[in-house]
Amino acid sequence: RAQSGNASNASSAVPSGPLELQTVRNIGISAHIDSGKTTLTERILFYTGRIDEIHEVGKRDGEGAKMDSMELEREKGITIQSAATYCNWNVDDKTHHINIIDTPGHIDFTIEVERALSVLDGAVLVVCGVSGVQSQTLTVDRQMRRYNVPRVVFINKLDRDGADPPRCLNMLRNKLGLRTCPIQVPMGLESRHRGVIDVIDRKAYAFDGYKGSERTEIDVPPEFAEQVEVTRAELLETLADLDDEFAEHYLEHEAASSPEAIHAAVRRQTIQRTFSPMLMGSAYKNKGVQNLLDAVCRYLPNPTEVRNVALDQDNDEETVELSCDPKKPLVALAFKIQDLPTGQLTYMRLYQGKLQKGMSITNMTTQKKHPIKRIFRMHSNEMRPVDTAAAGDIVALGGLEVASGTTFTDGRLRYTMTTMYVPPPVMSLAI
Ligand code: GDP
Repeated sequence: RAQSGNASNASSAVPSGPLELQTVRNIGISAHIDSGKTTLTERILFYTGRIDEIHEVGKRDGEGAKMDSMELEREKGITIQSAATYCNWNVDDKTHHINIIDTPGHIDFTIEVERALSVLDGAVLVVCGVSGVQSQTLTVDRQMRRYNVPRVVFINKLDRDGADPPRCLNMLRNKLGLRTCPIQVPMGLESRHRGVIDVIDRKAYAFDGYKGSERTEIDVPPEFAEQVEVTRAELLETLADLDDEFAEHYLEHEAASSPEAIHAAVRRQTIQRTFSPMLMGSAYKNKGVQNLLDAVCRYLPNPTEVRNVALDQDNDEETVELSCDPKKPLVALAFKIQDLPTGQLTYMRLYQGKLQKGMSITNMTTQKKHPIKRIFRMHSNEMRPVDTAAAGDIVALGGLEVASGTTFTDGRLRYTMTTMYVPPPVMSLAI
C-alpha cells in the first residue's frame, strides 16, 4: 500500500471553521473524454492525503475513482453530475485549501456544466499528450472563457507512444487561440518519460520510488539544459510582452530574471486570463501531479481576486458587485443537489457573508426561510461536519429541500446570483 507520495506537501486536517481566504482555491478539472481527468483527480486526492490507495498501474479505465460517486457515471464512463471535494496542499510554506468542483465535460449536460462553471475561480484544462486538442477540449475551453475562468493547462499521457507536447502546444495556440507557453520541459517522452524540468526555477523533478509517486529534485540533466534555456527565454519574452511590471524587470535583468518575478507575472496574467501556463506529465504513471498542484496554488486566483456580481431584486434587478467578505450580509448559491438515502445534500458556494449552524437563510426564489441544520466539507462520499463556513468557500448542507440554482441570503439583502457575462476584473492583485 502506498502512503501519500509527498508527505511534506500533504496535510489531511480538515479545519472546522472558516478558511483563510488567501489560501483558498475553488477549481474545476475539464477535459475531452478519455484525456485522463478521472485519473488525474484521483491522483490529486492521493497526493493531498485524502485517499490512501493509489490504483494499480495497469488497472482498467479510471475504475473505482473517487469522484465518480454514481454507479451510472461509472458505467457510462462520463460524469453526468458535478461533485465537490476538498483537499489541502502545502506550497511556498503555506497550506492551501483546494475545493475541486467536478465539471461534467459532456456537451449534453449544459445546465449542470454552466452551474458548475459559475462557481469556479480557476480550472485545470487536461489535454491528451497524444491526441492533443479534441472536440470537447474546444467545448470546455469555450465554456470556461464564457465564465471568465482562468486556467492552467496539463498535457497528460506523456508516457504513451506518440506523446508530442510541441504539437499539443501548437494546437492550443492555433485551435483554441490560447496564449500559452510551457513552464516545463519533459524529461524524456514515451517509455523514457521520467519527470519534468521547471524552467522558471531551473529545477528538475524525477518521479521514481513506489509506482513513480515520489518526487525527487535532481540536477538538470545536461542533455536538457539547452531546451530549458530556449523554453525559459520564450516564456520570459511572452510575459514581458503581456505584463508591464514584468517588462520593466526583464529589461533590467533579462538573463538573470528572478524566479519570484516570473512566478508573479505568470500569476497576474493567468488571473487576468491573458495567459495560461502549460504543465505536463503522466497522471497514470504518477509523474508531474505534485508540480501541477504547486501551479494551482501559485497561479490560480483566490476567491477575493475574482469578480462576482448579483442582481438586486429591490432595485430593478440592477447589477451589484459582491465582496468576498465574511462580515457582509450572506449571499450564497446552491449549485448542485445530490439525493442521498439520508435526504438531500445541497452544495453551496458562498460569495459573501457566512453560514452558521442554527441560523436561518432565505430562499430568493420563494422568499421562504430555512434553518441551517448541518454543514459539511465533502470528500467524495465522505462528509465531515463543520459549524461555520464563510465567503469564498464551498460546502454542502444537509436537511435543506431546495432546487439547484437557487440563491440564498440571510434576509438582509434580496440578491440573486446570475450566470451572465462578467467583464474582466480591474483590481490590484495581492501577490
Ligand atoms: P477521463 O475520461 O478524462 O476521466 O479519463 P480517464 O482518467 O478515465 O482515463 C482514460 C484512459 O486513459 C484510462 O484507460 C486511463 O487509465 C488512461 N490514462 C489516464 N492518464 C494516463 C496517462 O498519463 N498515461 C497513460 N498511458 N494512460 C493514461
